[in-house]
This record gives sequence, C-alpha cells and structure tokens, in this order.
Amino acid sequence: MTATAPREEQLWSRCAGCATLLYRKRLRRNLDVCPECGVHSRLGAPDRLRQLVDPDSFRPLPDDPADVDPIGFVDVVPYPHRLTAARTGTGLAEAVLCGTATLGGHPAALAVMDFRFLGGSLGCAVGELITRAAERALEERVPLILVTASGGARMQEGVLSLMQMATVSQAVAALREAGLLTVSVLTDPTYGGVAASFATNTDVVVAESGARMGFAGPRVIRQVTGRALPDGFQTADFLLRHGQVDMVVPRRALRGRLVALLAAGRARRPRPIGAAAPATSPPVPRQPTPHATATAVDPPAEVADPWATVRLARHPGRPTTLDYLESAFDGFVELHGDRLGGDCPAVVGGLARLDGRPLMVIGHQKGHTTAELVARNFGMASPAGHRKALRLMRLAARLGLPVVTLVDTPGADPGVGAEEQGQAAAIAENILALTVLPTPVVAVITGEGGSGGALALAVADRVLMLQHAVYSVISPEGCAAILWPDRSAAPQAARALRLTAPDLHRLGVVDEIVPEPADAAHADPDAAATALRDAVRANLSPLLDLPPATLVRRRRQRFRRFGAARAGNRAGAR
Ligand SMILES: [Zn+2]
Repeated sequence: MTATAPREEQLWSRCAGCATLLYRKRLRRNLDVCPECGVHSRLGAPDRLRQLVDPDSFRPLPDDPADVDPIGFVDVVPYPHRLTAARTGTGLAEAVLCGTATLGGHPAALAVMDFRFLGGSLGCAVGELITRAAERALEERVPLILVTASGGARMQEGVLSLMQMATVSQAVAALREAGLLTVSVLTDPTYGGVAASFATNTDVVVAESGARMGFAGPRVIRQVTGRALPDGFQTADFLLRHGQVDMVVPRRALRGRLVALLAAGRARRPRPIGAAAPATSPPVPRQPTPHATATAVDPPAEVADPWATVRLARHPGRPTTLDYLESAFDGFVELHGDRLGGDCPAVVGGLARLDGRPLMVIGHQKGHTTAELVARNFGMASPAGHRKALRLMRLAARLGLPVVTLVDTPGADPGVGAEEQGQAAAIAENILALTVLPTPVVAVITGEGGSGGALALAVADRVLMLQHAVYSVISPEGCAAILWPDRSAAPQAARALRLTAPDLHRLGVVDEIVPEPADAAHADPDAAATALRDAVRANLSPLLDLPPATLVRRRRQRFRRFGAARAGNRAGAR
C-alpha cells in the first residue's frame, strides 16, 4: 500500500449524516463511522484495505495502468488532465487498488475501488486491473473479493468502458467454473455498469450498512418516471428486502464476515466428516444421550396414533431450522435473496460447518410464537424462497460443498402472488436441479413435510426423517375435506395417508429414522440437535468420496424405484 492521504490530516470533520463536528482521530478509531448517528463515511481504497486485511499482508499486483485516452475525450478539460488531477488528489494510479492479502489467515485476491478517483468509474485500465486480480485468484486458487464504489462506466472512454463490464464478468465466470468463491462488497455508492456486472454477479454479495446500489441513479429514475421514490429506495436494507444482496453488514463487522466466508469457501479438498476438526473450530462437546445414535430405529413396538404424530410434528416448541443451525451446526453465515426481486422469510440458508467441514444448509423456517410464524409465513415458501434455495444449491455445487436440507413446511405458499410469480415452475425447477446436482445432498424431514413444497428441498441422496415428523402428499385436513364429509375427519385421514416415519421407512421413501428424545424434540431440543447432527454426519460421510457422476446416477435410481410399471427387462434402467 503505497498511497497515503496526500493532504495533511484535518483535525476535525463534520458528519455528513448529523452534521456533528467530530474529532478526526475519534472518527478514525471508529472506522470512519459517526459515533453519534452511525453514518458510514466513504473510505478510500487504502483505508478500506487497512480495515479489511491482516496487517502487512497486502501485496499490490505489479501491474500499472496504461495511459489511455481512446476517444480523445474533451469536455471543459481534456480527459488526460482529469486523470492527472485524480492521481495527484488521491495518490493512486487508478480508481482501483488490486493485490493479494490474507484475512484472518485466509489468502485472497482483492480489488478495491476508490470513489475519489473520477467517481470510481470503470474504464479500460480499471477493467484490466480487476481482471488481472481475478486471474491471479485463479492462478493461486484463492477467492476473489471485489469492493465496489463507483458511479458506473467511465464516460471519457466511451463504449470501450462499457466493454469492461464483459471483460471483468468473464473473469468472474472463470472463477465460478473453477469452483473458487467470489465475493463483492457493495459500498456507497455502487451504480451503473459496475452494479450491472461484477458488483452483483459474484457468488456472495455483501452490502455495507448505508450503501446504495442500483443500475439507474435516483435522480434519473425520478426524471423518467416523474414519481417520488419510496423511502429507503436502493439502500442496503431495501436491497436485502428485495433479494438483491445476501447480507447487510456494518463496517465494524465486515472483516469478520469476510473471514467467515473465506473459511467456508476454502472447501475444495475437504477433510472427511468425522476426521479431527481444525483448531479454529473445535467440536462442541455434548452430553451423550441414549438417543444419539445414527442407526435406524426399529419402528416403536406400540405405534402411536398418526394424528398424535401430526400434532407433535406441528408442536410450536419443536426446534426450527434456525434452532438446528445454532445447535447442530457451527459458524452459520446466512445468505439472503433470490437475485430476482425477493427474499422469502420462509426459507433460510447459508454456509455452516459440521465437524469443521463447510457445507450449505437450507431449510424451511417456521417459528415458536404467533408473531414469528406470521413473519415466516408459517414456513410456506414463495417462489422467491424456492429460487433462493436453488441459488444456494448451485453455489454449493460450484464450491464443492455438500448440501443439507431441513424440511419443515405445511406446503408451498398457496397465495395469489405466489401463483403470479410462478410457484409451480419454481418448485419444478428445484426438483429438476436436485436430480442433477453434482454434490452430495442429505435431506432431513424435521417437522412437517408438506407435499411439493417439501419435495422441492427433499430430492436427496439420503432422506432422513425425525421420529415424530410427518411427510405427506396433502395435509390430513385437506385430504379429509376432499374425501370425507368434512375436515373433522382429519385424524382418520392422517391414519389413511401413511405419513409417519415408520410407514415411510417401510415404503422406502425414507432411508433412516432419526430418534427423538423420550418426550419428542420439543421436550429436549439439545438432544434432538445431537441426534440430527449424528445422523447427518453418518449419512453424509460415505457420500463425500463418490464421483459426482456416480452420486447423480444413484440419486436418480433412488427416485426411480418408486415407479410402478410392469415391463419386461429394462436394459437401460440402470
Ligand atoms: Zn453523524
């Protein structure tokens, strides 16, 4: 890092948010976040790097920008004069600083943009430098982190600057193909050609608190539409709500989040599950419980009434996906959004670890209180939820991470909006994608496995089911309403539907029953979590060494066996 602030550090600065006059050193200590109102002021690339990477670990790439003025651009001053002024003003050679560094000991290549340099605009030199940073990541097989701050493409270089969107995107695609993690960190502001390319086509998109991102700027949109913009338009929280970013992270937590992502993205040559965990993530010792075995239980001698099981499966105290992520897995980093317009609260997912090994966990999320249930739409996924799950499954496959799904839904969201947004197609796409996903998938029915909405997360190499969970083509109430005089016949319907774990185990739909504590999972959530973890570990482990082609072939065979045709010899069926 050669660049330093060219001007003498001023003693005081005025907060752009609350206008408080702040002692500059105090502001620096607080990472340039106003201690009064929390506004994150803009950071130059050198300061940003200092905050993010391990001390003294940054090595700039050797490349220098070539001097270009491809279209001889002159406005009130010639473009070369503007470039010179920007260099003098910032001490930087261009609007991006690229190099390699470690974060929490994890190596990465970084490209950090600087808004002070001609508005962080993307020109031919910036595009080339970021591309070289991506190529370095590929060479060294390390993740790439892009910190964006830009008004968009550099007008002074005409359409050639537009081409840089494709150049850099191509480099991001090469990392994708190589299974290397790419992360963009959106800082304020990120607009135009940068927003529409490498700021958003990375694997994980992190927005710093207060960042705004969009294709068109608010002024342009107001002019074109003639309408007032909604509150918080294009802010980080708006982006999160609309499924555009994975997370909003305050500056003080940014480095830690990136370290966690890099730790998870390093999975290419995995240790087998069950091998000694690395020093950084010791397995939490847990009390052994009599139920914590991973072997299938025999169906209980006295079979409970299936209706009683339905009620247990729906018990509000039953552990949810987020509970299991807290108790059965380590280091959960939640990823949000379908990148198309929504972030469905009924589906949660992200990177987590089991015995120190990174994996992707995706599940339906209900809740324990009425308010939680309402906020999570009772675990009924919208099309956006299914698309988020799909995005995370594909990301897992690219990174070589196994997928664990936790199924607990009464069914997919049956609303008008869901229909308008293509609920059927969204479910269909997930089912199809899972049949060909080239990475191990273990599904656990933890509560209610309701019809197609459940199957959208349950086409797996191994399908496990908690002892008191249910899995059914239709709810007992729904079935009763159709086939009995009325819904009060739900208990009879529950008996007829064969929806309990022992029934489904006998039918081969479920490979293994995960035993629950004596009075069911809600009575002892910790024991339930231990049993779930042990079962996932035992079922995942043998899958890890299988070549993807074998895995996919067996998975398809597994689901093929439920067919009921009676043909002669089917030579091609294996
Ligand atoms: Zn302030």
